[in-house]
Amino acid sequence: MKEDIKAYDNVLSLIGNTPLIKLNKLTKSFTGNFYAKVEAFNPGHSTKDRIALYIIEEAERQGILSPGDTIIETTSGNTGFSLAMVSIIKGYNCILAVSSKSSRDKIDMLRSLGAKVYVCPAHVSADDERSYYNVAKRLHQETKGSIYINQYFNQLNIDAHYKSTGPEIWEQTSGKITHLVACSGTGGTISGAAKFLKEKNPNIRILGVDAFGSVLKKYHETKELDPNEIYPYRIEGLGKNLIPTATDFDSIDHFMKVTDEESAHMTREIAKQEGLFVGYTSGAVMQAVKQYAEEGEFNENSNVVVIFPDHGSRYMSKVFSDEWMSDQGFFDSVNAEEVQKIEF
Ligand code: PMP
Repeated sequence: MKEDIKAYDNVLSLIGNTPLIKLNKLTKSFTGNFYAKVEAFNPGHSTKDRIALYIIEEAERQGILSPGDTIIETTSGNTGFSLAMVSIIKGYNCILAVSSKSSRDKIDMLRSLGAKVYVCPAHVSADDERSYYNVAKRLHQETKGSIYINQYFNQLNIDAHYKSTGPEIWEQTSGKITHLVACSGTGGTISGAAKFLKEKNPNIRILGVDAFGSVLKKYHETKELDPNEIYPYRIEGLGKNLIPTATDFDSIDHFMKVTDEESAHMTREIAKQEGLFVGYTSGAVMQAVKQYAEEGEFNENSNVVVIFPDHGSRYMSKVFSDEWMSDQGFFDSVNAEEVQKIEF
């Protein structure tokens, strides 16, 4: 009887195997074929489900974790959401040390998934004992049976994508992929997928996306961290002010920098033209594709896979808010579409 019920064991069975969706309108003026790997189809609505599940299951395989133990990380973003979700199903405690800059919505969302959230002051330096880095480290030292995910410096972050994202793309394109374009934050996604794809075909071009205000592109070119490259920017999850060891710079052929403004407009265009409601870094990666296309990177035989990392719902008060766009000076409020009101 039980065999007749077509149900998944739990929500974690749905992680990975995200669809590859052809882009039709947005890329009409570019030469080549363009496909988006839409990571919002993961149950936690982002690519971070993959690393959360993989790193926790790797710790289980190594006998480091047993039920009732504790998962610790320093993020209020996608990784925090995924870790909280995996912890609930597997029976772990999840502790997230987040900055006081994190929105109330994000903190409430993590708490709804059972995570214990420590809100740490945003204005202190990384080496201050109150910083979220040091709070997480201290909690890890003090909590028996805990693991610290430390995604920017964890090789397992690369391995997760080497074992899932890379093979899926190879399979979905029947090995016909010529270019991969992906954002780099921790670098796990691009490095892991690149490693797998280059092993299959070393001619596949791996194109990274970085933000103005981040050090990654310059470091890739010079192998030096240039402090002049560091200044504030708005896109979350893209680029960094330090060099993550979860980035394999040798596997990346080229980096392209994108602006906050063009990426924001592009994010809105993806929804309007392709019906894909995806996040700000998906706009960033599409903006980079546009710039790569303008530089003549692609030809009519190119099969370009673009990774869209997360879902648009997390950006309702940002890129999808006309008010926010206006406040950033990204458009004149007169250009914003009028909200239709019905009077009763
Ligand atoms: N986009 C978003 C929204 C993210 O949260 C991240 C992760 N920081 C990335 C892109 C980049 O992915 P990765 O960390 O694997 O480089």
